[in-house]
Amino acid sequence: MSKFLTDKLVTLAPYVPGEQPKDRTYIKLNTNESPFPPSPLAMRAVCDEAKRLNLYPDPDLTDLVSEIAGYYGVSQKNVIVTNGSDEVLNFAFMAFCDERRPALFADHTYGFYKVFAEVNNVPHKVLPLKEDFSLSVDDYIASEGTAFIANPNAPTGIALPVSEIERLVRSCPDKVVVIDEAYVDFGAESAVSLVKKYDNLLVTQTFSKSRSMAGARLGFGIASEAIIDDLNRIRYSTNPYNVNRLTACAGIASLRDEPYFRANCRAVINNREWTLAELRALGFECTDSKANFVFARHNQIGGKELYMALKNLGVLVRHFDKEGISDYNRITVGSAKEMQVLIEKIKNILEI
Ligand code: PMP
Repeated sequence: MSKFLTDKLVTLAPYVPGEQPKDRTYIKLNTNESPFPPSPLAMRAVCDEAKRLNLYPDPDLTDLVSEIAGYYGVSQKNVIVTNGSDEVLNFAFMAFCDERRPALFADHTYGFYKVFAEVNNVPHKVLPLKEDFSLSVDDYIASEGTAFIANPNAPTGIALPVSEIERLVRSCPDKVVVIDEAYVDFGAESAVSLVKKYDNLLVTQTFSKSRSMAGARLGFGIASEAIIDDLNRIRYSTNPYNVNRLTACAGIASLRDEPYFRANCRAVINNREWTLAELRALGFECTDSKANFVFARHNQIGGKELYMALKNLGVLVRHFDKEGISDYNRITVGSAKEMQVLIEKIKNILEI
């Protein structure tokens, strides 16, 4: 840290992404990436677009915005696209939180929410999940502030029904509710259709997981025209070229390859259900995940111990050294082969 850093950043604890070790080749089940490549149409579009890299991207990203709007049945004015969904989430903290409206989020949820609150110098209030990791919408209805809810939640994978989200949005017309649907395509209900009915809802999604484009950094938000205007004020005040040409055309092509997208989501869901059944048969307690990861603990081995043992055997999972969830590991759902190896390694470790 230099002596020049401003006081407000000295105590900031930055987000810690999942490890990306380079010492050996691991089966990587720690950062919720897709085991499949992006759509072949997207790869082809990127190669073709490369020759136009001498030109800035369209700052309005009209083609991509219009493709997303068409796909989700909303108007172009209801869509903003960003550099990963992290960026639209950060914009929402900047736009809709202040002293009067703290950010509200769960004790066990996406770790970046706390960092976004801190880097933007806005207060936050943690609303603990219930013992079974379910979320009580009533806690959010009762608290003043801007709600940030990951649905399905991370790292638990537990999803709220859209009726509960609607109850929250309807009960709080004067506060913004942000629903982070990074994992929604793996079996949860999306709240996008509610955007037409409520002007206080922002739904965010990403191309990183279900569309196998984590490396391209593409996310988006869907909300009322006024909310999208607010977010675009920030986009145009920070980086109007936030989504590059290659990413934008890969995004469009990916949306046009519905069969590929559906097949990959289905494969991940099947692999998840297979993994959950195997883990439960081995005595693991698992949450009912609707995401591309499972969240599991075993009463014969600690979370950290299992994480270390798997790492030694070349399988990387995510362990959070955090009170309340340290017994668990979050395991990304990979290919069928990867999940078979995972289960074999766990059997070796548990000596079953
Ligand atoms: N929300 C949640 C709940 C996540 O787990 C992630 C991925 N780390 C994101 C948002 C952000 O993903 P991206 O920026 O790749 O779209």
